[in-house]
Amino acid sequence: MQKFPFDQIDDLYRDVIIRHHRASRSQPEVGDPDVEYDEYNPICGDRVVLQLRVVEGRIVEAGFKGEGCSITQASASMMTDALEGLTLEEAEDLADRFRLSLTGDGPPGSPTSGLGDLEALQAVRAFPVRIKCALLGWSALEQGIEEYRARPAA
Ligand code: ZN
Repeated sequence: MQKFPFDQIDDLYRDVIIRHHRASRSQPEVGDPDVEYDEYNPICGDRVVLQLRVVEGRIVEAGFKGEGCSITQASASMMTDALEGLTLEEAEDLADRFRLSLTGDGPPGSPTSGLGDLEALQAVRAFPVRIKCALLGWSALEQGIEEYRARPAA
C-alpha cells in the first residue's frame, strides 16, 4: 500500500489527519443500525462500513468500521463526527459540499469553511489519486441514504 506523503503537507493538516486516523481504530459500533453500507476501493484495498442510526429523518448516531489507508480512515472519522445531529438532507448537502471542495474548481477551503477538521482534507487536493480515498466514506453515506429511503417503512 502506498503511504500518504505526510512530509509534503502542512503540519496542522497532518496532525488532524493523524489524530482522526488513530481515533478511527477505537470507534464503538453502532448498535442496531438503520443504515449500513459497505464501500470498498479495490485499487488500494480501502474499506469503510458506515453505520447510522436514524430517528425521524435525523442521524442520531454515526460510526464506521474500516481498514485501509490513513486518508480513508481519517476522512470517515471526520465524517461520522460531523454527521451526528444532522437530518438526512443536511448530510447529503454536506457530502455534496465536501465532494465539491475536493474535486471542484473553486478555491480550496471555501465549500467546507466552518467545517472544522474536514478542512484538513483540503490537503488531499494536491494528490489526485488520494481523492478517491478521502471520498470513500462519503460514497458509503450517499448510497446508504439512498438505500434507506428506497426501503419500505417497517
Ligand atoms: Zn487509500
